[in-house]
Amino acid sequence: MAAPGLRLGAERLFAMPGVLELLSRSNSTSQAFAEVLRLPKQQMRKLLYPLQEVERFLAPDSRQDLHLRIFDPSPEDIARADNVFTATKGNRIDYVSSAVRIDHAPDLPRPEVCFIGRSNVGKSSLIKALFSLAPEVEVRVSKKPGHTKKMNFFKVGKHFTVVDMPGYGYRAPEDFVDMVETYLKERRNLKRTFLLVDSVVGIQKTDNIAIEMCEEFALPYVIVLTKIDKSSKGHLLKQVLQIQKFVNTKTQGCFPQLFPVSSVTFSGIHLLRSFIASVTGNLD
Ligand code: GDP
Repeated sequence: MAAPGLRLGAERLFAMPGVLELLSRSNSTSQAFAEVLRLPKQQMRKLLYPLQEVERFLAPDSRQDLHLRIFDPSPEDIARADNVFTATKGNRIDYVSSAVRIDHAPDLPRPEVCFIGRSNVGKSSLIKALFSLAPEVEVRVSKKPGHTKKMNFFKVGKHFTVVDMPGYGYRAPEDFVDMVETYLKERRNLKRTFLLVDSVVGIQKTDNIAIEMCEEFALPYVIVLTKIDKSSKGHLLKQVLQIQKFVNTKTQGCFPQLFPVSSVTFSGIHLLRSFIASVTGNLD
């Protein structure tokens, strides 16, 4: 993370007219993030910190249960994370290979993060949004019924690997469960599992199976709430509070802070990039 002197939390970001100047002096400022900082204040807050944005609509007593700022990167950290996700000559971001079995998985030494979730939860859209600063990357989608679902590996420069796991659902074959389970249990360099939950419908039965798997293997994991643009504020708040309560009372390995995102409006995408960069040791 940035030196304490440079650290500007979400609150202070909006109070500091000089933040753009500060960032433009920094070598690590990404063009994309500089554009975000030029947005009107409220639009910027919604885009960068969707959870803190919903906080405004909560009664004070329910605010206490919501973990909003456990991960609260400075604007400089967000800019650095965007750079990690930007494809350049010196930072190649590429699809590596796919595998149906863990023993076919590429042997990549870097820290790894994986994305799991029910079919249709918005996983491919989210991975595409995360890789929007590397437009050459092709996020493969194999949705045709009967097609073998695979784990897809992407390398992000020399920084880390992103693994797109096949979506699960009630039609998922047993060998798929075996594949995910074996991967989660055996992958040594797996630093964090991102478990996607559709914010419109909340945690479903199949999501619970994935949560139980993460808990059983004592994996550090994070719940990402997808498609937040689809709900009214009231519905989103209700879901956020319910899921937060579940995380607070029923989980051990789940990161206490939720990450709401929209792959349509890009809300929460920068924060998620920063979190990934942080858990893989790229914001130290
Ligand atoms: P996957 O099966 O988990 O990879 O899901 P997809 O990424 O293919 O998304 C499933 C459907 O949800 C598609 O029709 C997407 O366009 C839609 N979708 C995905 N993410 C979002 C989002 O953030 N907002 C909205 N409104 N729709 C989304």
